[in-house]
Amino acid sequence: MAQFKVAERFVSINGESARAGELAVFIRFAGCNLNCGYCDTKWANEKDTEYELLSDEELISYIKRTEIKNVTLTGGEPLIQEDIDELLLKLSLEGDIRVEVETNGSIDIAEFKAVADGISYTLDYKLPGSGCEDKMCISNYNYVDKNDAVKFVVGSIKDLDRAREVIYTYGLDVKTRVYISPVFGSIELEDIVDYMIENNMNDVKLQLQMHKIIWDPETRGV
Ligand code: SF4
Repeated sequence: MAQFKVAERFVSINGESARAGELAVFIRFAGCNLNCGYCDTKWANEKDTEYELLSDEELISYIKRTEIKNVTLTGGEPLIQEDIDELLLKLSLEGDIRVEVETNGSIDIAEFKAVADGISYTLDYKLPGSGCEDKMCISNYNYVDKNDAVKFVVGSIKDLDRAREVIYTYGLDVKTRVYISPVFGSIELEDIVDYMIENNMNDVKLQLQMHKIIWDPETRGV
């Protein structure tokens, strides 16, 4: 039976993505294959982090008990969990839920898209400020559609320059949804808006991490 390392699970407000502002049930998997400088969930990536080992049946049963329709699989990096394809398939067959996978952009999503229908993927593009840009899986941009999103977490104008270059080089503004999200405390929101205006960045959305506004930025489980 497939089992998954779950660092935390909770119901909260969906802070990002197309369903931002709606309730969502979050499953945070332990472990990540990257090490971004600004990571705010490093604790979940530590080798000795505490986690529950839950089967796909137990996870689905938990999700159903919450009676929440938006399900966000996050991390860490959810797509490095062994047998995650089995969980995605089972979730895709559940009628009344909408599943979103938040992935760091380094994992090829083609095989997961082929296995399970109707799941939306929010892929990070790691910009220079993250220190992980060389790990990005660019071929993913052949598979994203309007049900998915590519998110750029920007900490500087240099990051914005690179985001703009990537968005328009790969036509992401046409293929999928595009979000720009600030590294909390690193860049003025006003500067991001000014940059978007100066560069006519149509079809790109500024998204604020809602949970960092509602709760203390260090609060877990929200
Ligand atoms: S990919 Fe996400 S979870 Fe992994 S280190 Fe980077 S910010 Fe943290």
